[in-house]
Amino acid sequence: MGQAKQRGTQEQRIAQAQAKIEALRPEKLVCGACKTAFTDFDSMDTRNMRGINAAFGGHCPACGETVLAFSGEADAVADAMIAWQDAMGSEAKIGSQSRDGQHVPFDGE
Ligand SMILES: [Zn+2]
Repeated sequence: MGQAKQRGTQEQRIAQAQAKIEALRPEKLVCGACKTAFTDFDSMDTRNMRGINAAFGGHCPACGETVLAFSGEADAVADAMIAWQDAMGSEAKIGSQSRDGQHVPFDGE
C-alpha cells in the first residue's frame, strides 16, 4: 500500500515492519473477563492473517485470562476475533481452571 518502491535490505524491512507494529501498539489491553488493564503484553505474528496489521496478546495479571487485540481492517478484525473465539473456546475455560492450578495445555491445531 504505497510502499512498493521501497526496496531496503531484509533488515530494513524487518525494522520497518516492527516500527509499524510498535506504532499500532495500544497503551494497554483490558481484560474482557475482569476489566483489569495491563501493559505487559506482546505483539503477535500476523503474517497469515489477511487485513490484520498488528495483533497483541497477553495474560491478564488479575485472572489469567488470555487477552487479545487486533488492529487492521474492520472486517478482518471481526473475522480474526471470531476465528480466535472459535479456536479458544476451550482455552477460555482452561484459563479459569488454571486459577486453581489445573492448567491444561491448549491444543487447538
Ligand atoms: Zn482478568
